[in-house]
Amino acid sequence: MMSVSDPSQFPAPVLPEVAFLGRSNVGKSSVINSLLGSKIAKTSSTPGRTRSINFFEVRWAGKPEPELIFTDLPGYGYAKISREISHQWPSFIDPYLKERPCLALCVTLIDVNVPPQPPDRELLDFLYGIKRPTLIVATKSDKLSGNRLHNALQTLGREYPESHILPYSAKTGAGRQELWQEIRKQTSDFGPQASDLGPQTSAL
Ligand code: GDP
Repeated sequence: MMSVSDPSQFPAPVLPEVAFLGRSNVGKSSVINSLLGSKIAKTSSTPGRTRSINFFEVRWAGKPEPELIFTDLPGYGYAKISREISHQWPSFIDPYLKERPCLALCVTLIDVNVPPQPPDRELLDFLYGIKRPTLIVATKSDKLSGNRLHNALQTLGREYPESHILPYSAKTGAGRQELWQEIRKQTSDFGPQASDLGPQTSAL
């Protein structure tokens, strides 16, 4: 794992990258940990404290070389994102999202238990504006059951009709396979198809 807070330190863009974005406390570290099956993306105790991009190499069991990189972007706060992006979001986030040639997919995390929030809308508008493939992951789906989950997903779908929305629970693992499928689909153009052996991670 490598933490970077300056574009000149970004690793060479040789592998497809999947960026994870979301408000502080949305469950981003938990989703990354549950995807990777390890505790590598340390769960944050202080919301919004991380001010760097963490790059994680993803290596499949039995394969010698990493095939993917996950990037964990700083969580944004509860203030409006326009202010966050222009003032508080570190200056390296914009160039990363706009210019990174190997950025294959932006996974935007939204807590399915919370009504639609302006900062998420603004982030998604920003991503649509720069034409990045974007997927919404509706986190903490285990907190709602049956009809309530269905209704919450419908509300999200109405709010963000442009995006595919996947319910996910880091707690139960629900949605994990589907998310890996989407990640494989979106990153396969960038290199060899990921195998089905399951991921392993290694430190960059
Ligand atoms: P981050 O700040 O976005 O990285 O969020 P974390 O991964 O640190 O999670 C924030 C809080 O939400 C923690 O208390 C987690 O235990 C909780 N949480 C994360 N994912 C889930 C989930 O799938 N289900 C439930 N019930 N709680 C979750």
